Amino acid sequence: MKNVGGRAAVAVAESGLAERGLPRDELWALLDEARRDDYAWRDGRVPSLLYYAGEDVLEVAQQAYLRFFSENALSPKAFPSLKRLETEILSIAAGLFHGANAVGNLTSGGTESNLLAVKTARDWARAQRPEVQRPVIVAPRTAHPSFSRGAQYFGLEVVRTPVDADWRADVKALRAAVTDDTVLIVGSAPGYTHGVIDPIPELASIAAERGLPCHVDACVGGFFLPFREQLGRATPPFDFRVPGVTSISADLHKFGYTAKGASIVLYRDAELHRYQPFDFDDWPCARYTVPTLTGTRSGGAVAAAWAVLRYLGAQGYRELAERTLALTEAYVAGINRIPGLSVVGEPPMGCFGYTSDTLDMAAVADGLEDQGYYVGRMAEPPGIHLTITPLLEPFVDRYLQDLAAVAERVAQGRLVDQGREARYG
Ligand SMILES: *Cc1c(COP(=O)(O)O)cnc(C)c1O
Repeated sequence: MKNVGGRAAVAVAESGLAERGLPRDELWALLDEARRDDYAWRDGRVPSLLYYAGEDVLEVAQQAYLRFFSENALSPKAFPSLKRLETEILSIAAGLFHGANAVGNLTSGGTESNLLAVKTARDWARAQRPEVQRPVIVAPRTAHPSFSRGAQYFGLEVVRTPVDADWRADVKALRAAVTDDTVLIVGSAPGYTHGVIDPIPELASIAAERGLPCHVDACVGGFFLPFREQLGRATPPFDFRVPGVTSISADLHKFGYTAKGASIVLYRDAELHRYQPFDFDDWPCARYTVPTLTGTRSGGAVAAAWAVLRYLGAQGYRELAERTLALTEAYVAGINRIPGLSVVGEPPMGCFGYTSDTLDMAAVADGLEDQGYYVGRMAEPPGIHLTITPLLEPFVDRYLQDLAAVAERVAQGRLVDQGREARYG
């Protein structure tokens, strides 16, 4: 039996579930054994994928999660507590994004939030643009794969448009791609790859002129950029203050620093949101109505998100944003000082890539991997992606030293591309 869904085919025990259960100490030993080959994230070896704001924040999320571990957010009737917490989370998000009449839902993650935006646009078009035969999403090619995924799942097409030299959506090209079949325009704030914010006002105005929805994917930026702005730093507009923006996705489990399994999708008002729910009334059990894509959902993720938001407050998030920005500046300046390496653009937050005109970046990535780092390989331009959170504060100097040493070996031809796989994730 092979685990063919996994990245590497893992042999699974032939014998199925063992007859006898194991005592707890053996279980914990086996779990610790299972993570033996994981990268040492607490030692700063995973500069992406994890969002960490300190032991206290982690503990708040864990404690809150455990309190609602068994509750099922599928049923607001059984657990009005979770409905109340979700409503509070959404109203906090509506405040951050200046959506006075915003409505939305908590989801399991950015992918689900974006899939819902796609599904909602499709059903909006079915109702409001019945003449559209082949619904099309127009998105810069830097947009997250979840939009193409949603298009595949829900029977739409995506036209992915070019970006400028600075990796922001080329507004003219995007405008030219919009046709009578377009049902959704997407922009990112920022896109994950380069951390670059698309010209959201221009994209939203193209949508508004045509009476189309415009979704802003703020999955990685949504719980960072508002606090950056509150710190007085000039921050490109992306939220509901921008006319024409009709929905926003933002991940709580990224720079919201909560437990994985929490994101939001928020609509400017109820007008568009009403196309999101699924409602089915021909099941022998009962009428089945759910607003999101999942069924059973852990109450833990809801409680953890609520708890971390309330634990940190705006002041806590601003302080974390300030530290993260200072740390990002240290990484960016340090990388730019290494001969041959340069950060792509001027990232407004701790999510960016670096590249080289002279060095083989696949070889640099291999060299970092050999030093024990998990490396997020970037395809365009060839390079490496970093996500900076306070977890990395103690490790910035070591990373820069290790990177400089690896870059020097690549420059001298002592380290070459090993031909390793460069798939995301
Ligand atoms: C992370 C991310 C997503 C996907 O979110 P998941 O929580 O991984 O499903 C979508 N868009 C952007 C810009 C992201 O950074």
